[in-house]
Amino acid sequence: MSSHLEAIEAPADVAETLVDEPKKPRTSPQFNDADADLVCRTSDGVDFIVYQWLMAKASPLFHDLAPPTFHVADVNSIAGPGGGAIRVVGVDEDSKVFTQLLSFVYPVPNPQITTFDELSLLIDAAEKYNVSAAKEVLKLTMASDQWLKDAPLRVFSIARRYGYKEVVEQAFRHSLSVALATDSSVLDSPELVHLSLKDFQRLIYSKDRRTRAAVTTLRAKAQLPKSCLLCKAVGCAWHPSFLAYAEAALRACPTGEVLHAAFSKSVAVGEKPTLACPGKFESAMLAIYQDKWLDTVIASIDALPWVYTPPSVNHFIVIYLLLISVWT
Ligand SMILES: [Zn+2]
Repeated sequence: MSSHLEAIEAPADVAETLVDEPKKPRTSPQFNDADADLVCRTSDGVDFIVYQWLMAKASPLFHDLAPPTFHVADVNSIAGPGGGAIRVVGVDEDSKVFTQLLSFVYPVPNPQITTFDELSLLIDAAEKYNVSAAKEVLKLTMASDQWLKDAPLRVFSIARRYGYKEVVEQAFRHSLSVALATDSSVLDSPELVHLSLKDFQRLIYSKDRRTRAAVTTLRAKAQLPKSCLLCKAVGCAWHPSFLAYAEAALRACPTGEVLHAAFSKSVAVGEKPTLACPGKFESAMLAIYQDKWLDTVIASIDALPWVYTPPSVNHFIVIYLLLISVWT
């Protein structure tokens, strides 16, 4: 039996883990200059050997290396690449985040950020160490169309937390597309811990109010200016479908732009034969290009307010209900 066990060799990396417990710190391949004078040991045990003066230029916190931002490591100093003893401090970030942060301090290209998780952690680090160069770039990255579309609520939470006023308004508008009241998975993102109850309430309230106003506007503007040239109906075959798709789209996201997709869908999807008109495509195009009807409807919806402030009494009712649920 023992010979059978002995015959199985652990993979090299597993064996190393078992032997070297706890793991010895590794050294960053990029940040290890021989004449550097400070070691920052990351949470995953990687030593970044850096120039303290350069770090202090980028972040005032590196002047005095005081806790709680920095941990005094078990060993206060180690032998540096140049042979002399250099000081060691521990930082909370892992080596990936710290490498990216240092890219804003050293004269090297800015990091490639591929996920919002990465971006979020890096913003936290840039804010924590107050690295201005990083903060400005990351703020712009966060306010890009990609992240406003893919992670609006996370962007909003971060912008509110760190006071990025230019981003807050945009992110708030995009957050109205999030299924705030019905999809609990929107609460899974770590940034939402920092979003206040008041902000949440304002988002939910604004979404509800804007949706109602948008649907009312759509219905009020539903009438087409001209009848179809072929079937003579005011509101030809595509029109009822458009109104149905548009209303559903506005309930999911109360913004004018969703009407473009609803329109394309209503023209593309075939209706019942009895409703079909051979000229429905022409009728639809007339409404779009000649009468600018769709533009008018979209403009009316876009002109609606984005932020609706709930009566303050609601705020206290929500807190009261939350407290009751905790007590009972
Ligand atoms: Zn027609």
